[in-house]
Amino acid sequence: MIISENFPYKHSFFAIFEQLTRIPHGSGNTAEIAKFCYDFAKNNGCDAVIDKVGNVIIKKTAGKGYEDSDPIIIQGHLDMVCEKTPESTHDFTKDPLKLKFDGKYILAEDTTLGGDDGIAVAFALALVQDKELQLPPLEILLTMDEETGLFGAAGLDGSMLSGKNLINLDSEEEGILLCGCAGGLTATVNEKFETVNVNGTKCRITLNGLKGGHSGCEIHRRRLNAALCLAKLIMNCGVEYNLVSYKSGTKFNAIPCVCVAEVVVADDEDFIERLNTLFDQVVELAKGTDDEPKLELTCEEGTFECLSYEDGNRVISYLNTVPDGVIKEGDTGVITSLNTGVSDLEDGQFHSEALIRSMVNDDLDVIAKQVIKAANKSKFNSDFSDRYSAWEYNEVSPLRDKMVKVYENKFGVKPTVNTIHAGLECGVISDKIPGMDAVSLGPDILDVHTVNERLDVESAIRCFEYLVEILKNI
Ligand SMILES: [Zn+2]
Repeated sequence: MIISENFPYKHSFFAIFEQLTRIPHGSGNTAEIAKFCYDFAKNNGCDAVIDKVGNVIIKKTAGKGYEDSDPIIIQGHLDMVCEKTPESTHDFTKDPLKLKFDGKYILAEDTTLGGDDGIAVAFALALVQDKELQLPPLEILLTMDEETGLFGAAGLDGSMLSGKNLINLDSEEEGILLCGCAGGLTATVNEKFETVNVNGTKCRITLNGLKGGHSGCEIHRRRLNAALCLAKLIMNCGVEYNLVSYKSGTKFNAIPCVCVAEVVVADDEDFIERLNTLFDQVVELAKGTDDEPKLELTCEEGTFECLSYEDGNRVISYLNTVPDGVIKEGDTGVITSLNTGVSDLEDGQFHSEALIRSMVNDDLDVIAKQVIKAANKSKFNSDFSDRYSAWEYNEVSPLRDKMVKVYENKFGVKPTVNTIHAGLECGVISDKIPGMDAVSLGPDILDVHTVNERLDVESAIRCFEYLVEILKNI
């Protein structure tokens, strides 16, 4: 074991976790780790199947005293996000991760650790392996490709599971029980324009210095969306312009922090002066939410291929009309939001991609209608795809009540019960298991999806022991 020299903890899930890190398992590459889990279950006398999409389902029979108990579903995902430092030569398709232990955290050298969600798989397999532990029947569901779009959960046949209580192990903060998450719907707008040649001065405007962030976890910070912000500046300038290009963002689920627009104007000095005046308001607006926004301008004279004024205005006007950021907020946080993550105009082709999120399924459609309205106003067609359900907060949840009680008994304090404005698989799975009662928990994992990802070892131990305690008392 690589971490063994200075690793004082003997809990079996650490050794299993380390074995998992030797098997490459980035999203899209989970067949080998699925086979490992399947074999592990079989070798420990459990039933196991790999379903048609590549999810693993393991069934462990009831322990002594639990013969009449209903099965409990334990769930996590098999895939990990693959990030490495620019210098790293790590090959995520074949190299084992290099683990380190710094006295408090387990990390991987120069790469993500895959504690998200390898720790869930390790916990589950440790339960499978333990022959002494007497527990209710377990149904362990390990899904493929969560990180890239909840595909394993989406492909699940719910009839393969008979339990109604599900404990998801894909949370990253100890002491927080998640009991609801947002659903999502992707909105795209595409339009092909005829271009015209125009003489004048082309101004290249770069708006940067904004913070951006994750459109689920950070939308409540109300950071400025660079694409929409620059569109507002251009619109409010009161100058006739021809749009050449517009570029902002690469991911629909990230708030764009940079936007670069090229416009041709007749009088560049007047245009720049107006822009700079309006920009002062942006600086004011960004106080408290963003770093220091900056506007950079370069100009060149000539003949340029661009959109007609009317067509360019359709693009800019759409970006001014589409809903932005937090749309509805409640006591527990953001309920409904929209992030226009990608805005791209090049060679007359416009493409915009936005992610609608809501804790309430019906709101996804309400906001979709607002996007359609904004698109129609600019005479664009809009398309909607990749819908996944919200995991709506249950006022009545016996599982949650039980887990809160067990937590209090074990740690002497109440856990925090919360919801999250990002997507978790519980939403998708609850669609397939009518009457499902679910709670998500997990140990402290910091800087997830980055090369600094690290697992707090003692938090993991407390979390595993808490899990066992829940199962014993259910
Ligand atoms: Zn995860």
